[in-house]
Amino acid sequence: MARNLDPKCRQCRREGEKLFLKGEKCFTDKCAIERRNYPPGQHGQKNSRLSGYGVQLREKQKVRRIYGLLERQFRKNYYQASSSKGVTGEALLQILESRLDTVVYRMGFGSSRTEARQIVRHNGILVNGKRVNIPSFQCRPGDMVEVAQAAKDQLRIKGASEAAESRGYPEWLEVDTKGLKGTFKARPQRSELPSTINESLVVELYSK
Ligand code: SF4
Repeated sequence: MARNLDPKCRQCRREGEKLFLKGEKCFTDKCAIERRNYPPGQHGQKNSRLSGYGVQLREKQKVRRIYGLLERQFRKNYYQASSSKGVTGEALLQILESRLDTVVYRMGFGSSRTEARQIVRHNGILVNGKRVNIPSFQCRPGDMVEVAQAAKDQLRIKGASEAAESRGYPEWLEVDTKGLKGTFKARPQRSELPSTINESLVVELYSK
């Protein structure tokens, strides 16, 4: 399986904002954005103005990196969104938020999306009582997502879950932290998702 092996903090510095790719470290002052908030590389500190295309490209790369997808997977999700009813940008975000790895991350069973994806891959997650090890699996409203019995004793899962509980859960999820399970109540509304994402730039880029 192809993966993005670029260093995570470098990806955040390229986009100029926290993308929360490294779990707990992202919430401490060790975060690279707190220390060196300028693009990586020899010319990172030069002032460079982006063209209209550059702005769209950077936004698309940012969203793709937040959800940890490669270009092909991301574009596939875009085409799914553009052929669905409703606003393409919002549909794209809903598809991304319905991915099993993201749901597991949002429920706090993994401290980052990468960790959540690994837990899914390693058979650590049940959906409606059945094992699902496909990170791109699309959860549907009402689906029950649970950490498998064999994985419930893993300290990293317990630790991530406690930290997530202290930060609070999104509106569209109902989580039982002690039982390490939760329900995907509904696909999120645009207003419930981060306002730092400008999905219309992504749509403009792909619809050229
Ligand atoms: Fe990004 Fe997290 Fe690294 Fe900060 S610590 S730069 S948020 S990956």
